[in-house]
Amino acid sequence: SFHKSKGQHILKNPLLVDSIVQKSGIKATDVILEIGPGTGNLTKKLLEAGKKVIAVEIDARMVLELQRRFQGTPHSNRLQIIQGDVLKTELPYFDICVANIPYQISSPLTFKLLHHKPAFRCAIIMFQKEFAMRLIAQPGDKLYCRLTVNTQRLAQVSHLLKVGRNNFRPPPKVDSSVVRIEPRKQFEVNEKEWDGFLRICFNRKNKTLGSIFRQKKVLSLLEKNYKTLQALNLDPALQGAMEETNNVMDFEDMEMDDDEADDEMDVEDGNAEGETSEFKEKVLRVLKDNDFENERSSKLKLREFVTLLSEFCKAGIHFS
Ligand code: SAM
Repeated sequence: SFHKSKGQHILKNPLLVDSIVQKSGIKATDVILEIGPGTGNLTKKLLEAGKKVIAVEIDARMVLELQRRFQGTPHSNRLQIIQGDVLKTELPYFDICVANIPYQISSPLTFKLLHHKPAFRCAIIMFQKEFAMRLIAQPGDKLYCRLTVNTQRLAQVSHLLKVGRNNFRPPPKVDSSVVRIEPRKQFEVNEKEWDGFLRICFNRKNKTLGSIFRQKKVLSLLEKNYKTLQALNLDPALQGAMEETNNVMDFEDMEMDDDEADDEMDVEDGNAEGETSEFKEKVLRVLKDNDFENERSSKLKLREFVTLLSEFCKAGIHFS
């Protein structure tokens, strides 16, 4: 009997298992990480292809079945089974990850792997088809989203195989896809700033950035960050600490003299809530000066997100 809550869908098509292993490009010297080995159909082929398999499985019954299956075979001393939740397990060194995972952990598992050090060569993973399509989406595609941009910042992702639901027992409700994920030298960003920035940009991915950054709740959040940093920066007691954080830019460069500030107030068409139009102008100026005001997140390239965040930070506008 299989546990639906653990996403237990066993691969029953041996040709498909062969094809996954073949497309993985496993070397005879590879340490392979398998997540959710289940009854071991994939594990067996991985043991034949690589040097060692480390398999992380949450279900004690499956662990028993695996042990029984490989006990006394020539492979048994090259298989290490870790019983536990892969999301809570400290992962060992591995060269390559090959896995037919439970789909409910797709997102946290992907980011756990992508933050694993040292970086592995590649991961070949079966995902729910729609999730896979989000990972490989390009700007302008319907499924292009925050997950896409976050993943592609850290890895190159490509599609390997479409897999129909009838290759599994019991068949899941959705079709699947196998993708290859290759970690790459990432676009350097401050992770917290990046996360806060992308959440705002993708809050409404089809709106223009101009209208997103005119929203009152966005502006008041950014202004709060701005004022906090400015207050810290003006307090000599805290300056040493601030220099070390190194994500605070030149505040002098942004200080407006009073005349300039007055001008800003004049052109502003009345802010009933009393939020400072001066700050709003500062934010919008970054968008305008870099030609982002009429762009939409659904069409922006990864590189453009990185540029825009860096321009905001240069202007002292921070997202965390
Ligand atoms: N690899 C096998 C196959 O292809 O036939 C089974 C794949 S099945 C889709 C997913 C497996 O992951 C199940 O054996 C399930 O018990 C296990 N699993 C579910 N959640 C897990 C978790 N958090 N950590 C580790 N294994 C998990």
